Amino acid sequence: ILTKERKLQKQICQVALDHFEKQYTTELGEAWASVRDVLTCPLCWQCAILLNKFSPSTELENTLRMKGYHPAFPGSLPYLPASFKCYIRRTPGRFPAQKHQAGKLKEYYLLNAASLLPVLALEVKDGEDVLDLCAAPGGKSVATLQCAYPGQFHCNEYDDLRSRWLKQTIESFIPDPLINLIMVSKLDGRQIGDLKPELYDKVLVDAPCSNDRSWLFSSDIQQATLRLIQRKELPSLQFQLLRSAIKALRPGGSLVYSTCTLSKAENSDVINLILNSCSNVMPVDISEMAKAVSQEFTFLSGMQQHELLVLPEKGKAWGPMYVAKLKKM
Ligand code: SAM
Repeated sequence: ILTKERKLQKQICQVALDHFEKQYTTELGEAWASVRDVLTCPLCWQCAILLNKFSPSTELENTLRMKGYHPAFPGSLPYLPASFKCYIRRTPGRFPAQKHQAGKLKEYYLLNAASLLPVLALEVKDGEDVLDLCAAPGGKSVATLQCAYPGQFHCNEYDDLRSRWLKQTIESFIPDPLINLIMVSKLDGRQIGDLKPELYDKVLVDAPCSNDRSWLFSSDIQQATLRLIQRKELPSLQFQLLRSAIKALRPGGSLVYSTCTLSKAENSDVINLILNSCSNVMPVDISEMAKAVSQEFTFLSGMQQHELLVLPEKGKAWGPMYVAKLKKM
């Protein structure tokens, strides 16, 4: 294990780490040191197992319990159906992924447990029309369908290859005839608001962002430097995606914005800019949800009520994940 750890530690990209060190010491203060310890230690990482209610397996649940996993949200969120099952455990480690087999539904999806928070915050109800604006590879689309049966479910992904990956995920998890309710498109999310105005009750904007966890392991200095340059352009793209999502929402509908970065410029700053520039949106309080799941997640303190930031911690190595909720008036 030590040899493996040394090998993994060696791959940390110093350019990215130096950048994060400077930015996050300022933005997160004392909290950054323990976040850094988790992000730079892949052997501390955990994985959550989201069960597919369309392919239930008692044997799988027994195996998970035997391996020390427990359900992540038992009874903490009243609107979650009993069929929504996600297993986690405090000890680090991986769980084998299931291979894609044509014609066979998968039993589970592996993910970072914090990725479920945007979906839970969206609170999709049966019959609602839903848009997943940036959907590939489809983890949150699959999770949404474990929570409710939407009226229409539109999953969009701009990138060609990732869009194919999204389609494959949906085919692997969702059976007939439910799969016929799902529309997969390959549009620029920035244009969907104009193409489909006021069509949806709920929109998820799981935005392209600087992925702190993977960026720390950039393959070389060139890749890391390029990513750090591109990082500056992301807030503008995120703002445009949000503006488009707002247009796509029916009045009274709500959206959730999420990223997997700690960067304030891509999180609170983008949401504040939206709140200051769009008079038809207001913040939605998600502090009750955060409180309900606070046993399993560590949040940055001092955030506003409409937002949360999950900080990875040893034993709760989930995140980074920023979540904010807005409502269209
Ligand atoms: N929601 C996904 C999940 O849970 O599996 C992860 C989404 S990932 C954070 C962001 C995605 O947005 C990427 O797949 C990226 O290709 C896509 N993207 C980037 N620019 C986009 C755009 N202009 N419109 C739509 N999608 C875009």
